Amino acid sequence: MQGVVKAEPVQGVRLSRDLSEPVPESGEVVVEVAATSVCGTDLELYEWSESAQGFDPKLPFVMGHECAGTVVAVGPGVDGVSVGDRVAAESHIFCGRCYLCRTGKAHNCERLRVLGITFDGAFAELVKLPASVCFRLPESISPEIGALFEPAGVAVHALQRAGSVAGCDVLVSGCGPIGLVVVQLALLFGASKVFAAEPNAFRRELAANLGAITLDPTEQSMDEVLQHMDGGHGVEVAFETSGARQALPWLLDAVARESRIVTVGHPGQPVPLDVAAYINKKGVVLTGVFGRRIWDTWEILSHLVVSGRLDLSWLITHRLDLAEFEKGMQLLRRGESGKIIVYPK
Ligand SMILES: [Zn+2]
Ligand SMILES: [Zn+2]
Repeated sequence: MQGVVKAEPVQGVRLSRDLSEPVPESGEVVVEVAATSVCGTDLELYEWSESAQGFDPKLPFVMGHECAGTVVAVGPGVDGVSVGDRVAAESHIFCGRCYLCRTGKAHNCERLRVLGITFDGAFAELVKLPASVCFRLPESISPEIGALFEPAGVAVHALQRAGSVAGCDVLVSGCGPIGLVVVQLALLFGASKVFAAEPNAFRRELAANLGAITLDPTEQSMDEVLQHMDGGHGVEVAFETSGARQALPWLLDAVARESRIVTVGHPGQPVPLDVAAYINKKGVVLTGVFGRRIWDTWEILSHLVVSGRLDLSWLITHRLDLAEFEKGMQLLRRGESGKIIVYPK
């Protein structure tokens, strides 16, 4: 079968046409991949950036961690997932036995493996998965939208972590796909105004289409930005979804006293933080998310999409074959895309 393989610790990937087909072992299933989507992390892995190396991947591996498809084989001891089931994959492969798994925090398992990074992924015709990470898709959800559940779930988790945004002014820094879904969810969950800061004009327009008040942090000074916010006191809730190193210091100035910041993007390097000024005196509650809560994030997202309250289809701007993977990387690098769907067959 064919698949996109990260083989060398340098820029680039290899499209391999002779990968051996996975065979499910105990507790595992094999899924025929119907749709995958490309993530910023895939570009980091492609570039072999510091952020990518921070995941400690073991080369070579098949990339791709956002996918949906149909179960075509089931290994021994699998319960609750059958051949023919349409599923999306949770990319955080958890052990189910460690302290974190046993206390409802499986997304941050002590023995965490990540699909398409430390476990062969889904930019391939077939992917092998533990049955425990399969989420059965409702009838009305297409594989393309199913593949978006993984990244959109991160946005849902960020909102879960932030607590109520009802009646709050919200600022989202970075309008990549996750930031855009955060904008959409914040408005859906009752934010009074959502400001979206993004240097890329294409992405700013996507945020504006969702109803955000857009800002260019490279063009507008902090004073100008604060003018837009009621009374200039700053926003009550902010989300850092860009991963840019300069974003968090910028956000810490933009938020109100006693506000909440949730960070989602991974800066490739440490970011300095003045604890006395911002955490103690300004009273900012700073927290982050990694992955999705298993399975409440998935259930919330599924309910929102099935009910028609949350439409994710607008997010898909490009559809490519596996052989066009490099083109997907170029689109992503230029920031001229929403979500890129890749079809492995
Ligand atoms: Zn991702
Ligand atoms: Zn665990």
